[in-house]
Amino acid sequence: MSNSEINEINLQSCLKALVDPVFNKTFASSGFLKTATVSESGQACVQIELPVPSYPLQAELSELIQNSIRQQFPDCQDVEIEYTIKIRGKNSGGRLGLNVKNIIAVGAGKGGVGKSTVAASLAFALKQFGARVGLVDADVYGPSIPHMVGTREKPVAQEFQRKDGQTLTRIVPVEVDGLKVMSMAFFVEPDQAVIWRGPMLHKAITQFLQDTEWGELDYLIIDMPPGTGDVSLTLSQLVDLAGAVVVCSPQQVALLDAVKAVQMFRQVKIPVLGIVENMSGEFFGRGGAQAKGEELQIPFLGEIPMNAEIREKSDTGEISQLVAEGSESRTHLLKVAENTAIEIARTLLENPARPPLEIL
Ligand code: ADP
Repeated sequence: MSNSEINEINLQSCLKALVDPVFNKTFASSGFLKTATVSESGQACVQIELPVPSYPLQAELSELIQNSIRQQFPDCQDVEIEYTIKIRGKNSGGRLGLNVKNIIAVGAGKGGVGKSTVAASLAFALKQFGARVGLVDADVYGPSIPHMVGTREKPVAQEFQRKDGQTLTRIVPVEVDGLKVMSMAFFVEPDQAVIWRGPMLHKAITQFLQDTEWGELDYLIIDMPPGTGDVSLTLSQLVDLAGAVVVCSPQQVALLDAVKAVQMFRQVKIPVLGIVENMSGEFFGRGGAQAKGEELQIPFLGEIPMNAEIREKSDTGEISQLVAEGSESRTHLLKVAENTAIEIARTLLENPARPPLEIL
């Protein structure tokens, strides 16, 4: 039997050797190839299951599959490729009994670099790709997320029946355009100064995660307080984070703070997914974060230019519109979200059997 004869065994071995252009993995090792069948009329049907909600090189991948099949099987009549998405995750919330695939921390070395802006737009962008997303405002020193997303609602407590019949009171997060949101701002008055000590922070974060009815989520984004290690330590103990995104502006001083943030995450064993350069452009310069990322061997997730629309929309509570068509920053924000999801999936592919993080 020649291997140019089209049948399922030959088709599958042809496809398993292909390397996808985003993750650089063979289908044999990535598991993206779901099925490959040959119909009676000689048509090849290929089903690909992508691990991320947005895969940037789908057309190239289709062409690669088409060309390889036609080259190896000159008699093949037709090739049909079907794509499905199954977002992969490491069951980040499993330890707390949550059904959350990937928990992502968004941090910065100092305030004012646009960390909350990036966290909120990352959440809306992933949602726009079709993922199920939640957003936790853990920036307890200046919780700005409710203002940015434009909600005045408060979460409510509700009783839930557990499988064993017991009832449990849980907090139902506020929903904004389909995004589930929790914030300290829901619980304190705007002008009320809150002095947070370690144990209180720990308790608040635990409640945000453990006692909140998140439902099933693909991504839960956590807007971290700037600088401090307290919340990061708590998080690394509570959940198995997919990783951290570090936001910085292009100025040298902010870059040095970003290095501190990276070191802080590494210290508490939270993998750093990459670095985002925010507010790049003429005023602060650009490219510094990418260079720093290379130096630290951290992926660069993208740049977001300085743009008046970003400040306006977050001031008026319309930050979700930044990822909508017509927004000037849309492509940049979607790219950052796409790259973040890719880095998460890449980390999983490269460390398939990574043991759970040690509890410190
Ligand atoms: P942080 O969370 O790091 O303290 P914020 O996200 O609250 O920072 O952003 C600080 C201010 O900068 C906000 O007014 C926000 O609207 C504005 N901002 C953030 N990113 C940009 C940008 N790329 N262009 C213009 N303004 C921005």
